[in-house]
Amino acid sequence: MSAMDLDVIIVGAGLSGIGAAVHLQQNCPNETYAILEGRDAIGGTWDLFRYPGIRSDSDMYTLGYRFKPWKAAKAIADGPSIRAYINETAAEHGITQHIRFGHKVIAASWDSATARWTVTTSKGPLTCRFLYMCSGYYNYGQGHRPTWEGEGDFKGQIIHPQFWPEHLDYTGKRIVVIGSGATAVTLVPAMASTAAHVTMLQRTPTWMVSRPSSDAIANVLKAMLPAQMAYNIVRWKNVTLGQYFYRQTRNNPGKVRELLLKRLAKLLPADYDLETHFTPGYNPWDQRLCLVPDADLFQALSSGKASIVTDQIDRFEAAGIRLRSGKLLEADIIVTATGLKLEALGGMTVTVDGEVRRTADSLAYKGMMFSGIPNLAQSFGYINASWTLRSDLIADYVCRLLNHMRKTGMDIATPPPAPDVVPERLAMDLASGYVQRGADALPRSGNRAPWVVTADYKYDRRELLEGPVTDEMTFAKAGTVAPERVLEAAE
Ligand SMILES: Cc1cc2nc3c(=O)[nH]c(=O)nc-3n(C[C@H](O)[C@H](O)[C@H](O)COP(=O)(O)OP(=O)(O)OC[C@H]3O[C@@H](n4cnc5c(N)ncnc54)[C@H](O)[C@@H]3O)c2cc1C
Repeated sequence: MSAMDLDVIIVGAGLSGIGAAVHLQQNCPNETYAILEGRDAIGGTWDLFRYPGIRSDSDMYTLGYRFKPWKAAKAIADGPSIRAYINETAAEHGITQHIRFGHKVIAASWDSATARWTVTTSKGPLTCRFLYMCSGYYNYGQGHRPTWEGEGDFKGQIIHPQFWPEHLDYTGKRIVVIGSGATAVTLVPAMASTAAHVTMLQRTPTWMVSRPSSDAIANVLKAMLPAQMAYNIVRWKNVTLGQYFYRQTRNNPGKVRELLLKRLAKLLPADYDLETHFTPGYNPWDQRLCLVPDADLFQALSSGKASIVTDQIDRFEAAGIRLRSGKLLEADIIVTATGLKLEALGGMTVTVDGEVRRTADSLAYKGMMFSGIPNLAQSFGYINASWTLRSDLIADYVCRLLNHMRKTGMDIATPPPAPDVVPERLAMDLASGYVQRGADALPRSGNRAPWVVTADYKYDRRELLEGPVTDEMTFAKAGTVAPERVLEAAE
C-alpha cells in the first residue's frame, strides 16, 4: 500500500471528525486513516465562529462525546471551552498526527474496478477504500447574507457573525443585529454589556426558552460519583428530558406554546409586548427552538440595554436602517445574523464510475449513507438534540460496517435504490429558512426503515448500535461490479 493509499479518509477535523477517528482507532485498529482538514485548526464550528458570547445552545453532557466526560461546571459552554475539549480529545487519543491541515477536498471519484475513491485535494490526490465525511453541513467560506438597498450609503460597519473582525471595539456604539435565531440571541446580551444599545431587528419572532447554564443535578452527581458514571447518568437524563419535551411539541403544540409564553411573561416586564416580539406563527420545534441561558437576553431587554424591533427593512441609509414602518433605526454597527448557507459533503463533487452524483437526488440510508453511492458515509447530527448524540452512533455504525466488510472479504458496500420507498421529506426536517433555502444540499428521508431519518435518539441507538449492517445493503468485491451495475442500481 503506497503512502497515499489509505483504508479510510475522514474529511473534517471538527467535533465529528475527531470523534470518528477515536472510534476508528478503538474499533478498527488495523484500518489506516487520515483526516483531511481544509483549515489550519481543529474544532470546525467551534474554531470558526468568534463572535461575542459564542456558546453552545445544547448541554455539553449530550454535545460532548460519549467516551469523554464533560467536566466543567457549566453545561452550556462557551466556544473556546468546546474548542479546547475537541483539541484535548485529539491530543489524548494521538489523533492530531493523523490530520493533514490545509487539505481542502474538492472532489471524490469512485472506481468500482479497484474499489477505491480518488480524493482530489488542494494539495494533490489521495486514494482510499472508504470515505467518511465529517465536513459539517454549511459553507465555511460564505454565510447566508441577503443584500439590501442603500447598503453603500451606510456610514458605519456591516459585519457577518461568521467573519467576526478580531479586534472589533463596540464599546459605547449603537448596534443593530438583524436576525432572531440562535446567533442573534447570543450576540444581543453579550454585546449589550458594553455597547451603548443593542437592537435586535427581526422580521418574525422565534420560540425561546430559558434554562440555567449550569446543571445543578449534574454538579452534585459529579462531586459524588466517578466522572464517567456521573456523565452517563446526566447524559441519559438530558436525552430523556429533551426527547420528552420534543415529543410534547409534536403532540401537544398548543400546550407547549402556552407554557413557553407563560415562562416568558415571568422573565420580562409586565407590559412587554409578547404577542408581537415572542409569539411566532409556527409551532415550537417546527423551527429550531432558541435557548436563552440564565435568561441573559431577557435581562438585557428588561434593563433597557437592548430592545427588540419586529419590522421589515426598507433600505439602509447613512445613519442606519429605514424600516417599512417609516422608523429609522440609528446604528454605528450592523450585524447581519442572517444565518448559514447549507452545503452538501463539504462542497466536493462526487462521481461514481464517471457519473456525477448529488446527495439531493438520493435517499438517506439510516441517515448516514446515500442510495447509489458506495463506501461513503456522512456524519450528521440531530437538529432537535445535540449533534454528537447521532454522530457518535454513526461512528460506531461505520466501524461495524468496516469490520463486517473485512470479515466477509467484501470491498464495496452500496445502499441500493429502494424503488418502493417514497421520499417523504428533507433529511433535515425543519421549516427554518436556512433549511428550505438549502434543500438542494440535502438528501431525502423515505417512508420506511432503513431509509427514514429520525429525530429519535433511542430508536437510532438500537438501529445503529445493534441493527444488522447488512440491512438492504449491497456488498461486492472489487472488480466484480461492472460500473453499469452500480449506475443502474442508483437509477
Ligand atoms: C454558531 C453555531 C452554534 C451551534 N451550536 C450547536 C449546539 O449548541 N448544539 C448542537 O448540537 N449543534 C450546534 N451547532 C451545530 C454544529 O455545527 C455541531 O454542533 C458540530 O459542531 C458539528 O460538528 P462537525 O464536525 O460535524 O462539523 P463542523 O464543526 O462544521 O466541522 C467540519 C469540519 O470539516 C472541515 N471541512 C468542511 N468541508 C471540507 C472540505 N471540503 N475539505 C476539507 N475539510 C472540510 C471544516 O473546515 C471543519 O473543520 C452549532 C452550529 C453553529 C454554526
